[in-house]
Amino acid sequence: MSSQNAAPLVELKAVNKHYGALHVLQEINLSVAKGEVVVVIGPSGSGKSTLCRAINRLETIDDGEIRIDGNLLPQEGKQLAKLRAEVGMVFQSFNLFAHKTILENVTLGPIKVKGVSKDAAEKEAMALLERVGVGAQAAKLPAQLSGGQQQRVAIARALAMKPKVILFDEPTSALDPEMINEVLDVMVGLAHEGMTMIVVTHEMGFARKAADRVVFMADGQIVEDAEPETFFTQPKSDRAKDFLSKIL
Ligand code: ADP
Ligand code: MG
Repeated sequence: MSSQNAAPLVELKAVNKHYGALHVLQEINLSVAKGEVVVVIGPSGSGKSTLCRAINRLETIDDGEIRIDGNLLPQEGKQLAKLRAEVGMVFQSFNLFAHKTILENVTLGPIKVKGVSKDAAEKEAMALLERVGVGAQAAKLPAQLSGGQQQRVAIARALAMKPKVILFDEPTSALDPEMINEVLDVMVGLAHEGMTMIVVTHEMGFARKAADRVVFMADGQIVEDAEPETFFTQPKSDRAKDFLSKIL
């Protein structure tokens, strides 16, 4: 849970980004404390993925500041690689390496980026795979797993880097309905263990169970930032009311 006086773990100040004429992020201010779980929701095209990609520096910004644990996101180079390792990312489409085993998918980052020995990386990876319930699949290739299993491997892969925060961009949107809960259960577990998480999702059950705050985005702006119960029962803006009437 959030602490009032600690410096934010993720902090965006007056962040702007354009794609040509499209002002995709408009004066974004967002502060996420250590251990906080923030759910980001909003209509398609509102800039949620761009926000995640900017925080992980997969996209540049035009102006403003992004800090991770107090450090400004560097433009490039070694410093960027180091800082990026502190920010885990789980995508809608899993993005596992198709020609590597499940175990290799999880050990690659720690070995290549963090210089962990193969033995130590494999031991840690097996523990993480067990934790997300796919230990028995370690020797298989991604295509041999269900979507829900692959997404749990993607979460284990993110955890293997020991990130300070994990960004989830619609992690269950590509899954068959019966697999959504097995992924959400892992995420709720992480949230309750104190992992700092920014989660783009329309799964309101997750928001209610695990989120400290809900951030509602529309047209490149943060329109509301409230506790889940307040947001769902008393949305302030017409845009949030309209959005909620469509998804609830
Ligand atoms: P969301 O995740 O909320 O659906 P996105 O961040 O993916 O929204 O996209 C926000 C807007 O930016 C959309 O209008 C989208 O078409 C546009 N956009 C996203 N990526 C690019 C890009 N690489 N080049 C140009 N426009 C983009
Ligand atoms: Mg998106």
